[in-house]
Amino acid sequence: MLRSLAPTWFVESIYDLDLDRLWQRGIRGIITDLDNTLIEWNGPEPDERLLEWTRRVRERGFKVCIVSNNGHLRVEAFARHLDVPFLSKAGKPRRRGLRAAMDILGTTPQTTALLGDQVFTDVLGGNRLGLTTILVRPIAKKEFLGTRMVRRVEGLVLAALRRRGMLDKP
Ligand SMILES: [Mg+2]
Repeated sequence: MLRSLAPTWFVESIYDLDLDRLWQRGIRGIITDLDNTLIEWNGPEPDERLLEWTRRVRERGFKVCIVSNNGHLRVEAFARHLDVPFLSKAGKPRRRGLRAAMDILGTTPQTTALLGDQVFTDVLGGNRLGLTTILVRPIAKKEFLGTRMVRRVEGLVLAALRRRGMLDKP
């Protein structure tokens, strides 16, 4: 059980991600969560730093797709700003949306990394498909009430993973 919640890597933020290392691992496609991974929860628009990061990732050769459990309008508007494909209401940790994203990216579980800030949706979903999973620290503290409660349980899981040496930094 705990193993399916353990990310392959843990980084403070997307900006700490080692793109060369990801490339050397064989990763060619990045599925990324939106809220609290790329931007604070329900934050309106990508800032210049995020736009620049997205450009850099794509120039490095990665394909990017946003997969979010949030609603269509928000995800679409954001993805359009970044000029990347997206899936909304994806139902993570269910596998269907993640499989659909790999179809869009033209990648396989071996060549796909999943970026996200939540253990029970992002990491679990990605691990179920055998993706490289990268957990980031959530950007904002302000969150949807349901998520805040999940975070408490998540904190216990992360502490357990850390104790067992299963929360690796790249
Ligand atoms: Mg999130």
